[in-house]
Amino acid sequence: MTGEPLALYVHWPFCVSKCPYCDFNSHVRSTIDQDAWRDALLADLAHEASLLPDRSLTSIFFGGGTPSLMDPATVATIIEAAASYWKPSDRIEITLEANPNSVEAARFADLAAAGVNRLSLGLQSFDDQALAFLGRAHSAREGWKALETAQKNFRRVSFDLIYALPEDTEDRWAATLAQALSLGTTHLSLYQLTIEPGTRFATMVAKRTFSPLDLDRAAALYELTDAMTSAAGLPAYEISNHARRGQESTHNLTYWRYGDYAGIGPGAHGRRLGMRTARHRKPENFLSGVRRNGHGIVEDEPLARIEAADEALVMGLRLSEGIDANALTDRFGLGSLIDWKKVDRLVASGHLTRDGARIAVTAAGRLLLDHILGEIVATTDLAASVAAPPPASPVLLELPALSAPAAQPALVHSSAP
Ligand code: SF4
Repeated sequence: MTGEPLALYVHWPFCVSKCPYCDFNSHVRSTIDQDAWRDALLADLAHEASLLPDRSLTSIFFGGGTPSLMDPATVATIIEAAASYWKPSDRIEITLEANPNSVEAARFADLAAAGVNRLSLGLQSFDDQALAFLGRAHSAREGWKALETAQKNFRRVSFDLIYALPEDTEDRWAATLAQALSLGTTHLSLYQLTIEPGTRFATMVAKRTFSPLDLDRAAALYELTDAMTSAAGLPAYEISNHARRGQESTHNLTYWRYGDYAGIGPGAHGRRLGMRTARHRKPENFLSGVRRNGHGIVEDEPLARIEAADEALVMGLRLSEGIDANALTDRFGLGSLIDWKKVDRLVASGHLTRDGARIAVTAAGRLLLDHILGEIVATTDLAASVAAPPPASPVLLELPALSAPAAQPALVHSSAP
């Protein structure tokens, strides 16, 4: 295992307010003891490091919540500690998610000085009305200014937009996307609005305060997104993520390629050495866990081979590069993993591509990913585990989260606070 690559995820669980669409592990608190949180995160990190010696650290990702509310000195201390436990790779990527309001933008220079070299900015929209609907705590003007400040301070800046809002049309989304593509960014995360159980939007939809966008129209917007980003040289390398070649997120690629990652902080999940880890979600419980045990772990279980193969397949097929079925079969020792007859049928229908044992989902297939997953798996138990209920419509709103790491919201929809 010496020198094996490792990614580190750090979860900061606090936000200034709760957005009505958000089901991330985020909490609003009137006061936050920054020193106590620094010490708790450092203790949690030290625990993971003691279990993962001799690794090469390829990325650190500060997610949330709103990690741009962290004291930059704490960010620096965590980066230094991680670099003392593991050997940072020459091209280590250190990303922090940020909100585009002026208070947070004022910290960008300090965060860059702390060692952050990539910023992921939660713009979400360029339209004040849409921002108000999404309950965002910033205006379009603040968003522009924050992007400008970010691009001055960081070599790599990605930003997020949310589309398929109830009133979205193809013309409106095309204009927004054209604007986004003109801003010189090399990475974009573009998420359809999803109505998640337990959110304020779910209650509003139940009360018929508004209706989500019609599924066929949402699918048309997805196709438009694919066409426009490809034409602009930022094709999708994952369902919702677009980049110029070489500018893909190293950290998120670790999840999707099913590499090892340590996750620290409230609600963070990890996958290390064949184990699945999870931390206490509620900030107060996390702090008491760290005080009691020296770490915030609430679950640390071995993953059955079949579960791990399931996760690797689900994650890998989100990527445009797809999966190498033979490599997965060897890795998990499961015999035949894939039903090749069904794969070939889906190749013929234009939903998959196949090059030897490498399978990838086409743009058309991405709209039906959950269905495809249920189709192509040969192992009965695994097929039952990946098969999702038939999609109501060929859009991405119901992608199977399955056992995907829940504390890394970038995997499902908007990652950015
Ligand atoms: S969407 Fe982001 S900023 Fe809004 S509550 Fe969730 S984590 Fe916080």
